[in-house]
Amino acid sequence: MTPAGALSDPIVGIDLGTTNSLVAYCDERGPRVLPLRAGGRLLPSAVRYAGAVAVSVGAEARARAIEFPHETVVSAKRLMGRSFAESADAVEGLQYRVVEGVRGLAAIDTGSQRVLPQEVAASILRELKESAEAALGVEVRRAVITVPAYFDDGQRQATRDAARLAGLEPTRIINEPTAAALAYGVTTRRHGQVIAVFDFGGGTFDITILRVSADEAIGSVFEVLATAGDTRLGGDDIDHSLAQALLREAAQSCGVSVDSFATPSARQAVRDFAEAAKIALSESTRVPLAIDFGSVTLRREVTREELERLAAPFVERTIRACDRALRDAHGVAVDRVVLVGGSTRMPIVRAAVRERFGIEPYTALDPDLVVALGAAVQGSILAGHRSDLLLLDVIPLSLGLETIGGGVAKLIHRNASIPTRATEMFSTSVDGQTGVDMHVLQGEREMVSDCRSLARFTLRGLPPMPAGIPQIEVEFLVDANGVLQVEAIERRSGCRAGVQVVPTYGLTESEVEAMERDSVTHARADMARHRAADLAVHSRLDLKWITDALARTRGQLDADYLGEVERAMAEVESFIGLATRSDPTLDADAFQNAKERLDRVSMRVHEHAISESLKGMVTPSKESTT
Ligand code: ADP
Ligand code: MG
Repeated sequence: MTPAGALSDPIVGIDLGTTNSLVAYCDERGPRVLPLRAGGRLLPSAVRYAGAVAVSVGAEARARAIEFPHETVVSAKRLMGRSFAESADAVEGLQYRVVEGVRGLAAIDTGSQRVLPQEVAASILRELKESAEAALGVEVRRAVITVPAYFDDGQRQATRDAARLAGLEPTRIINEPTAAALAYGVTTRRHGQVIAVFDFGGGTFDITILRVSADEAIGSVFEVLATAGDTRLGGDDIDHSLAQALLREAAQSCGVSVDSFATPSARQAVRDFAEAAKIALSESTRVPLAIDFGSVTLRREVTREELERLAAPFVERTIRACDRALRDAHGVAVDRVVLVGGSTRMPIVRAAVRERFGIEPYTALDPDLVVALGAAVQGSILAGHRSDLLLLDVIPLSLGLETIGGGVAKLIHRNASIPTRATEMFSTSVDGQTGVDMHVLQGEREMVSDCRSLARFTLRGLPPMPAGIPQIEVEFLVDANGVLQVEAIERRSGCRAGVQVVPTYGLTESEVEAMERDSVTHARADMARHRAADLAVHSRLDLKWITDALARTRGQLDADYLGEVERAMAEVESFIGLATRSDPTLDADAFQNAKERLDRVSMRVHEHAISESLKGMVTPSKESTT
């Protein structure tokens, strides 16, 4: 259901990127990226021409750029609103030809025709507009479009022209870092907040330092204190560097020089491999690679360490630019750092930013999407939708963690005012566990299946210890902007892992109310299920213990007693079965009684087992082989 009027003339938000572009929409449920007609959400900013006609836009155009080097236009944003004379440094590395067009503007020679960068951008915008229309089911005529903070009037005007060519009214052109700040809702809370937006994309790097203040009449005012960056520095450089290393290695193994060895298409293929490996290494620490060069197949692993060695000089350059921006901003204290751009997914980049600014950067929103989401938020404000729903001063629904057995341990309760913080200790349930899955949930109900999943992450690298021994401290921290940061630390080993989310997004007030109502209606049944799940977990551990102990002591116990123990075990097992199936007929009290009975009857088994193991310690006997 959508409120009447909300969708009649929507204003979408568009991130028109150098490498990728995307469209988002924001209603009272919060901002979301809209799917493309071709599937996926990121539209590669690539257009292939046949003469002056754009015959392919997006993924297909990018994938076949090697086949059509002169007809495929990528990175057209570099040329937007630039004169031919100004574009000299921007064209380096581009496969297509840049020529002088009308009024001295930079134009692209596609072989038989000339196109302006605005026209290329218009093809991309048209694709996004049509995708948005398909997703929303209405005509889309208006958009908020983002541009880099350093774009001058000419570049902004060219962006407006591109929108009009695509049949879109550019309701507003906003700065990319402003959009990123809006997406995080870092606008209305405190006067004079200083935000650094660190945007590391495919081909460009920008750092922007903004001061946000609240103005009664206009809402939030974003003042750019300083910008710095490098229009020739991005994830592409890292791909190139890794690709070169791989090519050198392959060439060496054939005993030839790289130049004689690699055709343009082989080079491109290696770069595609390199990029894929780079992306995988943001998650894993090593990836296998096999590249077939015809004459030789390069087969090896790439480690994160190796990638980081290659990436380090580029990351270093981003940090030097941050130094410049901070100097220009007279060393102002930065309250927040927001990460934008696909390349900020690299752990080495995150670590460098954390170290330079001395604070944990915001990563709750997908760095690929954050600019478009913010543009959509601006669109919804301009369209007159309520925007206050996005910014809540209290926690609308409790936040917690999945416990074994499918229950939810709540750490922060509904209506807690923010900022707020809570910690709780957890442990493992299986011997020798080296990783623990953390599942962050939102909702009032007792069981995971009735709550909303917010995020998952894994605490890895625990040294193997018996179940229950690791001390895992989990901290939930919700800051003044509603960003939830969850961190888990294992005390003995110091292993840590964490995640950020924005828990308030995506729920309307009525959904929140419904979830609250549900929790009251189901409170009793939920409690019973939660209790049964806990009992099942503990009983399983008991059964394992008793089974192990019986294996060692069976010979010393009389048959009657054994029979009694086994009956008690079977009874508990049948309750575990009911709990696992969430059987509604399960009586938690009866389960509890059965468990207590088993605890009582099995006392003697434990006593025997303990004295056995004590014996074992004094003289390692023949029995200790079991
Ligand atoms: P732009 O703003 O220039 O359009 P994007 O923000 O879309 O660029 O970033 C694209 C870059 O991000 C590419 O270099 C891509 O390889 C890189 N990238 C995307 N995902 C990841 C990832 N998970 N790890 C490392 N780099 C990534
Ligand atoms: Mg970008």
